[in-house]
Amino acid sequence: MEFRRLGKSGLQVSVLSFGAWVTFSNQLDIPAALEIMAAAYDRGCNFFDNAEVYAHGQAETIMGAVLQKAGWRRDSYIVSSKVFGGALKDPSPLQRGLSRKHIYDAAYQAIERMQCDYLDLYFCHRPDPKVPMEEIVRTMTELIHRGDVLYWGTSEWSAQELMEAYAVARQYNLIPPTMEQPQYNMFHRYRFENEYERLYHVDTLGLGTTIWSPLASGLLTGKYNHGIPDESRVNLPGYEWLKEMFMSAEGQARLEKVKQLAEVAQELGTTMPKLALAWCIKNPNVSTVITGASKVSQVEENFSALDVVPLLTSEVMEKIEGILNNKHSKLIGAS
Ligand code: NDP
Repeated sequence: MEFRRLGKSGLQVSVLSFGAWVTFSNQLDIPAALEIMAAAYDRGCNFFDNAEVYAHGQAETIMGAVLQKAGWRRDSYIVSSKVFGGALKDPSPLQRGLSRKHIYDAAYQAIERMQCDYLDLYFCHRPDPKVPMEEIVRTMTELIHRGDVLYWGTSEWSAQELMEAYAVARQYNLIPPTMEQPQYNMFHRYRFENEYERLYHVDTLGLGTTIWSPLASGLLTGKYNHGIPDESRVNLPGYEWLKEMFMSAEGQARLEKVKQLAEVAQELGTTMPKLALAWCIKNPNVSTVITGASKVSQVEENFSALDVVPLLTSEVMEKIEGILNNKHSKLIGAS
């Protein structure tokens, strides 16, 4: 396993990590989640990602039970939660968003569900324009001062919102966000590569990143190249929107590209999931790639993606760029 600093913080996070979205509770119960998290942990994974909203708190409850059963030393792993959507099916305005009230309630509920004394990482799952930035930054700073959270961050905030949080932190001597959790994969790259570019610099935020959906929910595994397999995320109840996305004209165009990328993977003697993950790892601004898996065999495959990184020579990267044809030039990125 390779470990990377989470931005300019001192925290060393494994470059491949594991998250609970979709799978925990929908596909995996406690024994299955234990098996899959153990497969990741045994391969050097030291970060497990979660959120209050995943399966309405059930994903955190399952992860808490797994951590208890596994009995791993608390100083050997990092756990996260995210606040915004609320854990209840129909949250009231008090039970969601980024008010001081909900950030506190959600943090202590996550700690309880995950049966841990503190959260290593705590994310604002989305921006909340209804709450003043000072209230958010101050509340996160307080949680850190209380020892309930070690590092706070954001997910899918714009560069402008992140800079505003940074400015507020500097103005009031508060703690700025350490990390962002953006989507980043071969098909979704503009924000990560262009919009955030100056935020990675240590003179600004020195932003760490915990990237999500590195396989575009499975599209980049190649498993959808010849139709939809019965056992797959898009067939789960409640994920009809994903099936629609895959079946749309854009989804089908992406599928065509996956077919070409699969040939590159084959030429390299590897698999499509490993190629797609290695491509993410290759970007030095990625602190950790949060993987997802419904089966232990997927963890086994995904966690060997590090072996493929050295195969991504400039020639191979050029070939991949030729297929993707979606890289924004710096000039376009700045406009
Ligand atoms: P991926 O894009 O990597 O998709 C994972 C899914 O792809 C698996 O559950 C599995 O689905 C399929 N898969 C994975 N590996 C393989 C393989 N080797 N072969 C075949 N199929 C495979 O990641 P996720 O979308 O799950 O996101 C990862 C994590 O990121 C989440 O758990 C969560 O922690 C975080 N996240 C954060 C978000 C945010 O807003 N901050 C949003 C979304 C995710 P199946 O077998 O069921 O088809």
